[in-house]
Amino acid sequence: MPLKLLFSKQGQKLSGMRFDDYHISFEVKKNLAKLGFTKPTDIQFKSIPPILKGEDVLAIAQTGTGKTAAFAIPVIDIIHRKKTTSRADGIKCLVMVPTRELAEQIHGVFEKLSKHTKVKAFSIYGGVEQDKQIVRLQESLDVLIATPGRMFDLVSQGHLNLSRVDILILDEADHMLDLGFVKDIYDIKKKLPRTHQTLFFSATINEQIKKLAYSLVKNAIRIQISPKDPVSKNVNHSVAFIEMDDKRFFLERMVKEHPDSKILVFVRTKVRAERVAKAMERVGIQSVTIHGDKEQKDRFDVMNRFKSGEVKILIATDVSARGIDIPNVEYVVNYDLPEQAENYVHRVGRTGRGREKGFAVAFCSTEEIPMLKEIETFLGKPISVVDMDKNEYQDTLDFTEDVDNNWKDLIKENEAFLSTLKKPNKGKKGKR
Ligand code: ADP
Ligand code: MG
Repeated sequence: MPLKLLFSKQGQKLSGMRFDDYHISFEVKKNLAKLGFTKPTDIQFKSIPPILKGEDVLAIAQTGTGKTAAFAIPVIDIIHRKKTTSRADGIKCLVMVPTRELAEQIHGVFEKLSKHTKVKAFSIYGGVEQDKQIVRLQESLDVLIATPGRMFDLVSQGHLNLSRVDILILDEADHMLDLGFVKDIYDIKKKLPRTHQTLFFSATINEQIKKLAYSLVKNAIRIQISPKDPVSKNVNHSVAFIEMDDKRFFLERMVKEHPDSKILVFVRTKVRAERVAKAMERVGIQSVTIHGDKEQKDRFDVMNRFKSGEVKILIATDVSARGIDIPNVEYVVNYDLPEQAENYVHRVGRTGRGREKGFAVAFCSTEEIPMLKEIETFLGKPISVVDMDKNEYQDTLDFTEDVDNNWKDLIKENEAFLSTLKKPNKGKKGKR
């Protein structure tokens, strides 16, 4: 499936934008002003333009961040502009929600935002008499907010025609999945015109939601994520683009330029941990490793030597370092990017603890860029890139004291490692 995860970087410049500056209908602006909405929230700022353009959107933002208006504003505007008659022309937008309460609430928002426009909204849900709903469905109606059960009843009875719907919205998409409405959503899609816009709004994102979104949408899908940063403010974290074969030189330089700092280095496998330690040894840097293959006693011992500062460099895998609290780690180096995006947060969280400041840098090779994207998706924002020109990069390679390296072995080793990167992350995982 041609699926793209896109980031919206425009969110960073939220500052001055006001609803008055938007190219949306005068009536909608007036309604917004009446509600006291002068500036868009972050998720509104990010979602409104692509929705107006007709793109499919998967928008993730925490509860209470204004997701309802994030879809209601552009939807009302689109329908209002297109509509040339007030005669019944079929439902143009269907909003599917998991609960009756939510259907009512969203209906209320649509009513307030569509005053004096040509747009009419209505909600249907179970637990109440359906006759009144049937009557209303016969009249002019543009936006229908519905819970799946009642909606299917009315469709099967022939009271509800969805053949003109060109925008489908799933609000609380995560909740919908929890409640097991997935099949309903597939069924509904079959009843809509072949090309339509699909919008997902959710408070959380997980693999299931991503999968659902991907399986339902043919076009590129834009992911907008909550601005809340899961990485502590005390951690200054960045990414440097460094090719696989060059990473050890950069680590060497970093260690030598910060001889008094404690540095925690993360790698993906136990084999990598030992190899990096050997590479450091070749250039006179003492380090210790910790990973799943070590005896518990050794692990305690290693940890104590690092904690006390006797050894300044600890090379670790994710699993072995999870949850450990080490004082005064000045730098975290993501020598390899983590296999699971959320581990990035755990890793960089090893520095900058309490009130301390910390620095983290990720060494990202070309092959790891997709992983970087995943991490950025998880974080909800791009990671700042270390500014480094070709000369600076070359300087680091020249800086090394590793004169006696066996290139063939190194290339073989890195090729073997790269081939593990390309495999999809499924099934049994190696011991780390
Ligand atoms: P979510 O769906 O993300 O949980 P809601 O759409 O329910 O959030 O909105 C949460 C609250 O924020 C509502 O009370 C709404 O009126 C208010 N709100 C939404 N957008 C704005 C805005 N641009 N300016 C001020 N208040 C807003
Ligand atoms: Mg909501």
